[in-house]
Amino acid sequence: MNKVRVRFAPSPTGIPHIGNTRTALFNFLFAKHNNGKLILRIEDTDKARFVKEAESTILEILEWLDISWDEKFTQSERLEIYKEHAQILKQKKLVYEDEGALRFKMPKDGETSWDDAVGNKKITFKNETQEDFIIIKSDGFPTYNFANVVDDYLMNITHVIRGEEFISSTPKHVQLYKSFGWSSPVFAHLPVILGPDKSKLSKRHGAKSALDFKSEGYLKEALLNFIVLLGWNPGNDKEQMSMDEMIKLFDLKDINTANPIFDIQKLDWLNGVWIRSILDLKKRLADFYKDEKDILTILNSDKADIFIQSAASRMKTLADFQSLISQDSDKKKSKEDKEISVKLLKYLNNKLVQDWQDDKLLSALKEFSKQEDVSFKKIYFLMTGKVAGIGILELNKIYGRDFFIKNLSDE
Ligand code: GLU
Repeated sequence: MNKVRVRFAPSPTGIPHIGNTRTALFNFLFAKHNNGKLILRIEDTDKARFVKEAESTILEILEWLDISWDEKFTQSERLEIYKEHAQILKQKKLVYEDEGALRFKMPKDGETSWDDAVGNKKITFKNETQEDFIIIKSDGFPTYNFANVVDDYLMNITHVIRGEEFISSTPKHVQLYKSFGWSSPVFAHLPVILGPDKSKLSKRHGAKSALDFKSEGYLKEALLNFIVLLGWNPGNDKEQMSMDEMIKLFDLKDINTANPIFDIQKLDWLNGVWIRSILDLKKRLADFYKDEKDILTILNSDKADIFIQSAASRMKTLADFQSLISQDSDKKKSKEDKEISVKLLKYLNNKLVQDWQDDKLLSALKEFSKQEDVSFKKIYFLMTGKVAGIGILELNKIYGRDFFIKNLSDE
């Protein structure tokens, strides 16, 4: 086989959603697995739909996720190449002028087909269903269909891995390859991602960009791991995978034909798993909270490790850290709560005096719970102001006695 060359070819027409990023990831994994190259090609020939910030956002997403590319091209810098190639088809009398635009003549009989690598199936279109299509617009810019094929050929692309929404364009591409006398690359069309209600994933389902997930406190490891499982699995039950493992295991034959469902609970679960696996959680938290002075102070203190260790087991996203360590109360105390608080404070002061050591504190609280028939959950709330969170003993190490006294005496 020729050396593998694949491409990720985003159009800078908006902020890329998770589906686009999945296409980039699958291409990257396929390239790396095969010691091949990934070409990043910005397909910016649609001037009407061009969005200025889109390209920088695309690059930011790829960089954050460590999806690196080997070569980069921008179609708007290659207009001459498309014109020259249109000229070739003109000489072959395969195109005609139509109000300033150049149109490609599709064959009218027979069929156009290709073997798709996803599901290993032949996809066939009857040519009578196809229409002649524009390859160069009246503004001199090529259309997606034309520039895409010319570039895939000139860039020696061996495999075209893209979303299945491009299946309907593929007969045009196959006929263009034929008209030049070029052989087609392998096509692999990825099943579209669906929302939980089985309709196409959209903004309504929270179809966000990778950067939105970043700012909500998801780790890149978790997001990559989640995305790779949208339409692919390594043929076993393995769920947690690092980028290196994905590269090792990735194979087109394991891409599912069924549409994957975007399951945010699974992402949350994977994020928790990764939060507890990465070795530099402190640094990730510091990056995430770079504008939050109070949190940075805690992260730089000698208590940081206790905070992080005890918070990690309860965090779904990095954003949870803030509420876990905040000293603000979650809710108001009822009248009964206040009475119990007064009792508990008296009890602890009697029992422990100044000596709030961990083991003593814990047995005193257990005793109080039994004696007064008050649940530990309630005691936790009265002691901390929180419904749930970091353990009492960790809080005792971090804040000490004054923190509990303040909460118990809080009106
Ligand atoms: N520019 C197309 C897009 O926006 C690329 C499709 C393809 O990969 O051929 O996704």
